[in-house]
Amino acid sequence: MKGRILLLIFFGLTLPEVYYTSGNSQKPDISRLQDEPWFSVKEIGKGVWLISDHGADNIYLVEGKDSAILIDTGLGVADLRATVRKITGKPLIVVNTHGHPDHSGSNYQFEIVYMHPADIEAAKQFNIPEARARSSGNMLQGNTPREEEKFHGKPFDTRYIPVTEGHVFNLSDRRIQVMETPGHTPGSICFLDVENKILFSGDNNNGLVWLFLENCTPLHKYLETLQKQQKRISEFTTLMPGHGEPVSSDFINDQIACVKSILDGTCQAKEYKSFAGNAMICSYGRASVAYRPDNL
Ligand SMILES: [Zn+2]
Repeated sequence: MKGRILLLIFFGLTLPEVYYTSGNSQKPDISRLQDEPWFSVKEIGKGVWLISDHGADNIYLVEGKDSAILIDTGLGVADLRATVRKITGKPLIVVNTHGHPDHSGSNYQFEIVYMHPADIEAAKQFNIPEARARSSGNMLQGNTPREEEKFHGKPFDTRYIPVTEGHVFNLSDRRIQVMETPGHTPGSICFLDVENKILFSGDNNNGLVWLFLENCTPLHKYLETLQKQQKRISEFTTLMPGHGEPVSSDFINDQIACVKSILDGTCQAKEYKSFAGNAMICSYGRASVAYRPDNL
């Protein structure tokens, strides 16, 4: 079973050829998605589900013997809570990889959310209906869920609990460990499924990583993050990114080469445009990084 899943991950899925210019993911096929349910759910490993947020971002649910953990909450325009409850009835821990609105958008549907302290303020600011409508408009060109797919419960005044490097969520038979990965945001974190060697990587290890936003760290700091991940590469075989398809952990080597080529001036950079601003972009192997030359 496990072998079949890995085959699916590595051979059955292709990497994006065209990057989505209005989001840090491959381009969702909007026309195809229009008539489909908002969330599509796929079991991609033993007790691991990928919940696609209408193609805009990836939400992951990992179930252990005693409890389950929800990694990221998407754009927040549909009822994620109900979708999760159809999969598992176990006590649920909710975490965010970072505070961006396409990863923390449904936080209001949950009482408690764990995240890195450096991103809590951003997540709070984005957790209003106007921000959800804006980010969904930017990323899905105004696609909205059907009325019955929307969240009709009472929104929570979500309590945020800070977590930092090394924190472990114990699901009894599987442990999920926090790895700090500043770069895309100062408080970006990844979650390592220790027993199953999976790293849920938020926007840190996407095919295209956005490093040009206002609060991104300087590029050399992001390089330190990638090098830290490389040192621990024996601990995980698969990266589960916030956008796009799962990829093998050696993808990090391409990312490091890409960032180094920017910092040493050997990359032939091109212009990059998106709804969030313009930048320069460099690519190496499977990896691309969009960055600002004034924030190296
Ligand atoms: Zn992000």
